[in-house]
Amino acid sequence: MKTRRTTLKTLVAGLALGFAIGTPMAHAQDKGMVGVSMPTKSSTRWISDGNSMVSALAAKGYKADLQFADDDIPNQLAQIENMITKGVKVLVIAAIDGTTLSNALQKAADKGIKVVSYDRLIVGSKNVDYYATFDNFQVGVLQAQSLEKALGLKEGKGPFNIELFGGSSDDNNAFFFYDGAMSVLQPYIDKGKLVVQSKQLGMTKVSTLRWDGAVAQARMENLLSAYYGKAHLDAVLSPYDGISIGILSALKGVGYGSGKQAMAFVSGQDAEVPSVKSIIRKEQYSTVFKDTRELAKVTAGMVDAMMSGKKVEINDTKTYNNKVKVVPSYLLKPVSVDLSNYKQVLVGSGYIKEEQLK
Ligand code: BGC
Repeated sequence: MKTRRTTLKTLVAGLALGFAIGTPMAHAQDKGMVGVSMPTKSSTRWISDGNSMVSALAAKGYKADLQFADDDIPNQLAQIENMITKGVKVLVIAAIDGTTLSNALQKAADKGIKVVSYDRLIVGSKNVDYYATFDNFQVGVLQAQSLEKALGLKEGKGPFNIELFGGSSDDNNAFFFYDGAMSVLQPYIDKGKLVVQSKQLGMTKVSTLRWDGAVAQARMENLLSAYYGKAHLDAVLSPYDGISIGILSALKGVGYGSGKQAMAFVSGQDAEVPSVKSIIRKEQYSTVFKDTRELAKVTAGMVDAMMSGKKVEINDTKTYNNKVKVVPSYLLKPVSVDLSNYKQVLVGSGYIKEEQLK
């Protein structure tokens, strides 16, 4: 009896201690601190990334210093410099502007701190050890293929009017998304099956600074009033759900999706809850699901392999040239999502709970 009670007491005390320091009991081992720098909380995808990184690192025995930078470049720099001062072993960074971190990363390298570029490629610095991301070209291909399917372009239907939106031009990914999408759309544009009434093509004309939905909404409103007074807009290439929501507001503002005016088919990315709800309401047409839980696992695996002198798992050594070197990368597979498969892909995998969609 006595022994039992003591065992119980020890167990309770141990549990309390485990929870108090926020480390799951099973992973009590302390392998050091990893700095995790995320761009913003304004999009739920990055919040999920941050949370998944903290648990994936904890599962491998690391503590995380997780910071969000409010899409403010000096803020992200200060947060990273602070992590370096605190003596993190590794930095995991999803950059706001991939070109602005060279000095900080040199300081990190001088202290022997390793760097993983997370989701977005850090460019212009040799001090990037690995890159964990999704197949970004394929994301664009999937976005365009969903519009191709919605319009029936493969079956020879058309011509249709389309407008193009790109992501933030300080994010290397935005170019991959656009190029991937244009690899599908350009042949239809060349054949006259897709017409861009505004003639605004190319990232210099179609990019959206900081992926800002309000900026996209304003551009869409201008395009609609300048080019679609009479003509109907059939489809919009959108690179990200937050931008899609802005585009859809502009479209709804002039009557699309009500009465006789059909809603234009709008793509997206990230499977964010407001956009999945919009897909269920038959407003947004599609999104691209990138399982950030998997990205976090791959990244934590990279961190641990580097720290324990093991071989880091990569599957691409060609694609991501950051202007100084080709960064060895691990690319995960994105999945196209629309009304036909959102339940199976998003709810089925536990990424989104059914009740979040009510
Ligand atoms: C990410 C996308 C995201 C976008 C806006 C990109 O770098 O790869 O998943 O939609 O940033 O946050």
